[in-house]
Amino acid sequence: MRPDTTMVNRTTSLPIGPGGVLGIIGGGQLGRMTALAAARLGIRCHVFTPETNGPAEQVCAATTIAAYDDTRALEAFAGAVDAVTFEFENIPAASVARLAELVPVRPGWRALETAQDRITEKTFFNALGINTAPWVSVDGVESLEAALAKLGHPSILKTTRLGYDGKGQARLTTETDPKAAWESLRTDAAVLEGFVDFTREVSVIVARGVDGATACFEPTENVHRDGILHTSTVPATLTTGQTETARAIATRAAEALDLVGLLAVEMFVTRTGDLLVNEMAPRPHNSGHWTMDACHVDQFEQFVRAVCGLPLGDPARFRPMRMRNLIGAEADAWPQLLARPGAKLHLYGKSESRPGRKMGHVNTPIDER
Ligand code: AMP
Repeated sequence: MRPDTTMVNRTTSLPIGPGGVLGIIGGGQLGRMTALAAARLGIRCHVFTPETNGPAEQVCAATTIAAYDDTRALEAFAGAVDAVTFEFENIPAASVARLAELVPVRPGWRALETAQDRITEKTFFNALGINTAPWVSVDGVESLEAALAKLGHPSILKTTRLGYDGKGQARLTTETDPKAAWESLRTDAAVLEGFVDFTREVSVIVARGVDGATACFEPTENVHRDGILHTSTVPATLTTGQTETARAIATRAAEALDLVGLLAVEMFVTRTGDLLVNEMAPRPHNSGHWTMDACHVDQFEQFVRAVCGLPLGDPARFRPMRMRNLIGAEADAWPQLLARPGAKLHLYGKSESRPGRKMGHVNTPIDER
């Protein structure tokens, strides 16, 4: 089909201010909290999602329900918004390319592409001189066995694409049958990572504006349970040097990607005190939810400011905070959480609770550590 030539090309645009419309690809809780932050600035959001009645749709001014590769729907969406951003990065290259012909797309394809594939991502960091866990790409049982001979046990096998919350991963010990592990992943592209005996996990979120200005949130210390983020705590237990290094890594990566928006970078702190990058996400991140009740400008407002071409806000933290995710039935305790002094409850409006599903989070101020 021929593209609609009557469509106005607005790939370069002025800042989006009050009355403007920000398009968000993806309809989950990150889109919901982005739309709420945008609304505070008088900016309306139009969400593009394949699912009806998702968390973002409930709070957005407009919604397009369509598949991520529905070109006609993408073109109409581009015509209805002033810029497009993503709360979900795994959308096809052709979709991003078509959108980018019609409207500013922030972040651009380079950041999305790099984050979509673990091998591209690790190669990107290593090329910047930033360390990751040792890794080897794997495409079958034979190459897995060769990779195991190189990296030893235990090690972690991960699909290169579409893994999240510990999904698409297998831990290999000397007891594990490599063939069974390979088959369990149901993929033809994976990466084997040496196991990092970390003392803690941290993450950093940096914002980068259209003008190249950057603003970094404080690193947060993350605890995972069953592969899913359980808590994020600030301040993290890091030395001043480690804090500076963590910020520098995230900022360097955002600059190298020429990213406009947010970049979240997850890292391991090793027993020797080094920082190894685990993965990144070019969008708001679960480990930044603490900022909603502890920073002058939280990650969602900062994200909106960055992608709308507005000045970045002050990311400084004004109190220590712990964010705890509410997974599955944990959210059923919402009446008790509402009654807890100091606790701030955030629920995502998901009608169906399932084990492992993120239903909300609670931010609780803690004592200075
Ligand atoms: P990921 O999906 O890569 O974020 O992995 C989920 C969680 O698994 C991480 O947050 C870590 O707790 C753990 N993990 C992932 N990769 C490694 C590794 N190479 N060594 C040790 N633990 C890991």
